[in-house]
Amino acid sequence: MSGSSYGGARSGRARASHARYRHAVVVGGGFAGLVTARVLADHVDQVSVLDKDTLPDRAAHRAGTPQSRHPHALLARGAALLEDLFPGLRAELTDQGAPVSDFGHFPMRYPTGWSPTVRSGLVLQTFSRPLLEFLIRRRVRALRNVTVHDATEVTALTTGDARVTGVLARARGADRPSAHPADLVVIADGRYSRLPGWLAEARLPPPRCLRVDGQLAYTSRLYQRRPDRDPGFQASLQATLAPTTPSGGVVVAIEDDRWLVCLFGAGGISAPTTPEGFAAYAAALDNPHVKQIVEDCQPIGAIHRYAGLDGRWHRYDRLAPPLRGLAVVGDALCALNPLYGHGMTVAVQQALVLGEAVTACPPDRACRVYQRRATRTLLLPWFMSTSLDRGWSPGPAPLTARAGRAVLLHLLGRIPTDPDLYRRFLNVQHLTASPLTLLPPVPHRHDQGSEP
Ligand SMILES: Cc1cc2nc3c(=O)[nH]c(=O)nc-3n(C[C@H](O)[C@H](O)[C@H](O)COP(=O)(O)OP(=O)(O)OC[C@H]3O[C@@H](n4cnc5c(N)ncnc54)[C@H](O)[C@@H]3O)c2cc1C
Repeated sequence: MSGSSYGGARSGRARASHARYRHAVVVGGGFAGLVTARVLADHVDQVSVLDKDTLPDRAAHRAGTPQSRHPHALLARGAALLEDLFPGLRAELTDQGAPVSDFGHFPMRYPTGWSPTVRSGLVLQTFSRPLLEFLIRRRVRALRNVTVHDATEVTALTTGDARVTGVLARARGADRPSAHPADLVVIADGRYSRLPGWLAEARLPPPRCLRVDGQLAYTSRLYQRRPDRDPGFQASLQATLAPTTPSGGVVVAIEDDRWLVCLFGAGGISAPTTPEGFAAYAAALDNPHVKQIVEDCQPIGAIHRYAGLDGRWHRYDRLAPPLRGLAVVGDALCALNPLYGHGMTVAVQQALVLGEAVTACPPDRACRVYQRRATRTLLLPWFMSTSLDRGWSPGPAPLTARAGRAVLLHLLGRIPTDPDLYRRFLNVQHLTASPLTLLPPVPHRHDQGSEP
């Protein structure tokens, strides 16, 4: 691997205090795998990232991440954490043409009305997912103690002495898989993770999986931005809401003067993938910006659909006995409803939690501690998305989900006429503020007691 003063300096400083792991294998070189490799490079002598795809030397789509055709908003919390891990990333995205503005300026059409325009302090930079992943991959590849093996598919775990000891992986063109021994294996193979099957093959118990299915589908197409027209927004969205509003959509300005238009369908419906059907679905939305871009701009390429976007949370934290030598991050741990934009942000949080656990805990406890603490990154995002998504399923929802739904509906009812509440709501959604900030302000002492 080529060296980098940035990666080398950071890795060297951290390794001086903690040198307990010699080799970590990260299964999957998508978003979570790359960020995890970056964090582990500070704590582990050598990190190997294995991905089944050929990873391109540019921003390009590939088979292993079909979601890259669709909009990917990086929430303010995730953007700040990522900038800490990859200083200068924002500027690189800007240089590539990714626009930036305050999230509170984007028109959002809720079933209860339009969002007010507020100064939220939440910076949103909009870009394609291939561009973000490429810039991160380039940084990770430059770390001197990280090696990225692409075209290498992991096929099984190796185990022994009541712990995971590595993986078997087949390089493309090889006759048989080869062993990759490691004292830490991190699974980051995405939404359709094969880990439950690998555990079963190794005669280890698979985790319980929580599933909430809003029967959501994304249908997306790129359009060329017109230099002669400034529509006055960088992004504009119409939200779905169970069970009354199954259609929605978003337009997002991204690099290379393009718009990414995505039409949402929930509760089992989806936008058509024919040009005429796509345009008609966009035109029927209550948000006229989506229709405007589809009608005014030149489409680029095909229409892509991604259906089956349920929420699924594998409870690896509850395995008994707990796994040793194995940690699970990103969508392999919990794939969230993408409408809320939490997936990449929680993946960065989990990578940092794993870094803390391997630094602070003895090796035989670190994975267990990590897996338990990782649940904290998921509680709020899971609660927010599933409370509403349960509205698409027949039958009674649990009490907590019904309570969550009632609170969210109350907030959505007030947001169009309450800019301060909307600003606080956005900060909670972006994981930069506690949900407690949504409680009504407590009157000061001197405001009370006017009664005798
Ligand atoms: C339609 C859609 C829209 C989304 N929008 C947003 C958004 O707006 N904001 C947001 O934050 N998140 C969004 N997400 C979620 C986001 O894409 C994920 O949270 C994020 O990609 C998780 O990263 P990951 O590394 O876990 O999975 P992925 O990025 O999917 O990477 C998994 C990797 O594992 C590799 N792999 C799989 N199996 C093997 C194997 N056996 N051996 C080796 N390699 C393997 C794959 O090739 C791939 O590179 C969206 C998701 C979808 C589906």
